[in-house]
Amino acid sequence: MGEHQNRMGGFSGHRLSRRAAIQALGAAGMAAVSCGTLRASALEELSRHRIQQVIGFHVAAPRPKFVGKNSHLGDHGDQTHDDVLILTTDQGARGFGSGRLEPDSAKKLLGQPVSSLWTDGAGSTGLLGRSDHPLFDLVGKILGKPAWSLIGDQGTRAVPVYDGSIYFNDLIPGREKNGVAGLVAEVEQGIERGFRAFKIKVGRGHKWMPKAEGFARDIEVVSAIRKHVGPGIRLMVDGNNGFTLEEATRWLNAVGENDLFFVEEMFPESIADDTAFRTYIRSKGWKTLVADGESAGDVEYFDPYLRAGCIDVVQPDVRALGLSLEWAMSRRIAELQPSARLAPHNWGSHLGGFMQLLLGRALPNFLMAEIDWSRCDLFDSSTFQWADGKVTVPDTPGCGLVLNEDLFQSKYAEKAMKFQAS
Ligand SMILES: [Mg+2]
Repeated sequence: MGEHQNRMGGFSGHRLSRRAAIQALGAAGMAAVSCGTLRASALEELSRHRIQQVIGFHVAAPRPKFVGKNSHLGDHGDQTHDDVLILTTDQGARGFGSGRLEPDSAKKLLGQPVSSLWTDGAGSTGLLGRSDHPLFDLVGKILGKPAWSLIGDQGTRAVPVYDGSIYFNDLIPGREKNGVAGLVAEVEQGIERGFRAFKIKVGRGHKWMPKAEGFARDIEVVSAIRKHVGPGIRLMVDGNNGFTLEEATRWLNAVGENDLFFVEEMFPESIADDTAFRTYIRSKGWKTLVADGESAGDVEYFDPYLRAGCIDVVQPDVRALGLSLEWAMSRRIAELQPSARLAPHNWGSHLGGFMQLLLGRALPNFLMAEIDWSRCDLFDSSTFQWADGKVTVPDTPGCGLVLNEDLFQSKYAEKAMKFQAS
């Protein structure tokens, strides 16, 4: 498995080198001192660093396969896309990660002390806003702490992940004959990559197939995959709002014995429909969880759903909210609906998967990280270790990724947006 992952690049299965392991132990020791809040001396250290340079650029990374349609959208293609920021301070510290700034905002950052961008116990509250992945990396590196420990140490060292890439590839012209078998083969490839959980897109009858045929094909796909993987693998489905409540209930009845871990966005969310759906599922004695919320733009959006107890799995988009608001979301869930779990949406991004893993290590109510597998040689992720459907998050300072300097200079630097304090 490790060899295969190394070839894939993206998430690799290296063992930690002795040096990295010793560094990791040191950082973990420090992290144990304080989690989620910093000592006064640490905050003072942040105030000694001022932003000297801001670089912004775009990275496209190849997926190992073409990803087709879901119930609403056309083909998703064979690449992930990330906007990346690199922040450097006048003391020579550097952080990078997923984020985007307009040129005016980037210029305003220059000369700002890092302490003005960061609020203890809440994360990014300054000019970087939701583009806070590079800030967590920078603050972690300045303080010699893993970024997850800035949030907390209440998750798990090895974070469960899932492969969210099982789309409607049976509908790609030319593959119809081998359609369902082709999807089973994709799941098998995911198992080889180290996944033990898969999300399958459903809702073919919403616009790509006649309703009854699409309904039946969705069942055929889930049943074929369950038959192939057996009972030990988690399967979820995502309807991308391609059903009505009545259709979703009927569909779940038809697929019932296939043991779905969660059902996501089967219909456009409403308190009434989600309550009826969840009540029905429980009345049947099924353990299937109701998941929703990837299109929500704010933490408060979920309040009425949490109060009503009609959603089990809350899925705000990890890049749209950023790490700090996902952290806030976790606290809100704990307050309003302690039995619910956070499982952020992540699609179309290489870096979003690594953001999720940090949250999984930090937060007590994090469920699973959604991975959109792609190979990106710009980011060395070899300290993240895959085993048995989980990824162990490293204890190295910052967010755990290493920027390939030579590749950045040769491929990205020239086209990047770059601002430097005079
Ligand atoms: Mg979804």
